[in-house]
Amino acid sequence: MSKDPTFSVLGGLPTRSERYEAYRKEWDRRENALDPSDHPVHVDLESVAVCDLRCGSSEEDPQGFCQIWTHEHIRTQGFDEHTYQRGYMDPVLYGRLLQQCADIGVSSIKLNYRGEPSLHPRIVSFVREAHGLGFPDIMMNSNGNGLARKQPDLFGKIVEAGITDLMFSVDACDPETYHRQRVGGSWEILLNSVRTAVRARAEGKSAPDCRIRASVVRTHLNADAVDSGRMEEFWKGKMGVDWMSISECYFPAGIQHHWKAAEWRQMDANEFQCSDPFRRMVVTWDGRHTMPCCQGFTLEIDGGPVVKAQGYAPMVSIEQAWASRNFDRLRDSHRARTWDQKGKAGEPICQNCAVTKMPTRLAVPTRAIPLPVVRT
Ligand code: SF4
Ligand code: SF4
Repeated sequence: MSKDPTFSVLGGLPTRSERYEAYRKEWDRRENALDPSDHPVHVDLESVAVCDLRCGSSEEDPQGFCQIWTHEHIRTQGFDEHTYQRGYMDPVLYGRLLQQCADIGVSSIKLNYRGEPSLHPRIVSFVREAHGLGFPDIMMNSNGNGLARKQPDLFGKIVEAGITDLMFSVDACDPETYHRQRVGGSWEILLNSVRTAVRARAEGKSAPDCRIRASVVRTHLNADAVDSGRMEEFWKGKMGVDWMSISECYFPAGIQHHWKAAEWRQMDANEFQCSDPFRRMVVTWDGRHTMPCCQGFTLEIDGGPVVKAQGYAPMVSIEQAWASRNFDRLRDSHRARTWDQKGKAGEPICQNCAVTKMPTRLAVPTRAIPLPVVRT
């Protein structure tokens, strides 16, 4: 499981098949050996960069807490153009990238990076295609709304198509908190999506390793429900999901925010080495960028485009991006524990990244008073 200090599991992990466990052993080996081998273990293929929600947004705080759309550390480096380009992955590009992943020995595919993957009109066939190529793990984070607003059985179909890790971002165990935190979402549609997915799996229509997770961004609104056990009781006890994970709500680049429910301490390189660049990478929906971790991209860590595009570097394969100079430089800064330094040896993106921060949970009153965003 992840070394990311902002991430934790509520209760236990689900059991898996031997095949699945074998790939997770390689995942762990990459972390322990800091060895990237010649291919990633896992690739995020960003099927869409659009979303039907605006999590945490309000009149006083229009930005909300969605790091997917805000990516403050990227914006401070002048990357507005890349951060806000929205769209849907071309199915031909998806098929080509998926085949490359299968050919080089990638074990795990995730169908999202930014945005809501169920908004892609081909999402069920995307999962089916990945299942057909035999990946041990096919993952998706979803808000449970998206196209399920129009297709109530969508998540049942996604389960039947062969997803193995279906993760619903739930954030609440009651409709009032849900609507305040996951702004624009429908509680009823989310519940129906979870029910249809759980039912399809219970009816034996899923891949053997299919597990359904409810995930929570812990904020001042839901901290009490998480800490008291109500959240777990509702999603595991009543809704039948297999497991739950919690991520602390964090804002990068010196932003303090009223959503937070923890104090943050910056770690240094003696305490923390990141394993992401040794085992996972991301391809953006348009194929113009590849990244060696899931914390946002800048040209300094870009492994190159996987499509031909005017004004961009020559096209590379996933395997070539994995071996690119930028990916290697980021790895070296973690191997040599220099990412926290100023100047050439340091990596600003890591210094601003949530996973280099250690959270200490705050005891949050049940009725916290919302405060405006403060920029420091
Ligand atoms: S559902 Fe995800 S991508 Fe959409 S606004 Fe919420 S956190 Fe962001
Ligand atoms: S930005 Fe750096 S610390 Fe953060 S996930 Fe990427 S490699 Fe790891």
